[in-house]
Amino acid sequence: MTGPAAETKMQFLFALRSRGVTERRVLNAMEEIDRGPFVRGLFSERAYEDMPLPIACGQTISQPSVVGIMTQALQVSPRDKVLEVGTGSGYQAAILSKLARRVYTVDRHARLVREARVIFEAQGLVNITAMTIDGSYGLPDQAPFDRIIVTAAAEDPPGPLLAQLKIGGIMVVPVGQSDTVQTLIRVRRSETGFDYDEIRPVRFVPLLEGLGPDS
Ligand code: SAH
Repeated sequence: MTGPAAETKMQFLFALRSRGVTERRVLNAMEEIDRGPFVRGLFSERAYEDMPLPIACGQTISQPSVVGIMTQALQVSPRDKVLEVGTGSGYQAAILSKLARRVYTVDRHARLVREARVIFEAQGLVNITAMTIDGSYGLPDQAPFDRIIVTAAAEDPPGPLLAQLKIGGIMVVPVGQSDTVQTLIRVRRSETGFDYDEIRPVRFVPLLEGLGPDS
């Protein structure tokens, strides 16, 4: 895989930094993972622009700067076991795989999971496990997690996900009604409960119940 031209890559990284992605480890991971293979078809020429783009199953690959900000907010360390709800294209999971020990990523659309797995394999990202399930119930078999990231908007942080967060763990999740501006929040679990802080307004597709139609 050749990846983007040096100048395209520089512009991509510049856009990230100018929008608040400043942590070295996160920038390095985003430099290493080529967004190109995760964007296919009509929009592949725009893979290095800082914008969300349509993917299969009526879903979207998030805007790179939002991926960067969410990753930064998650404060991932190399020993962490991370759960991502909302595999989509697999791009966010690929970035996380460079920062964490192990990444579990789940989506309700089997097709998205299949396609993401092919890219993970082609790129040698062996510490990612992708599964087709309704992620609003988390992944009890692998719980608890050090970090949980939800890349679809829920009205509230789902209870089962809160329950699967380790003490000392962090979850990042967009909350709010779909189709309106949502707020990205960070939840920290302490010995005694959960602390919340707001990061910024965002806009994500909704977290839906059940599996999607397989196409
Ligand atoms: N993180 C992705 C973008 C996610 S788009 C990327 O990097 O490309 C949001 C994804 O959440 C969609 O693929 C959608 O199918 C998925 N989703 C929505 N509700 C879900 C649920 N209950 N369980 C699992 N995945 C869900």
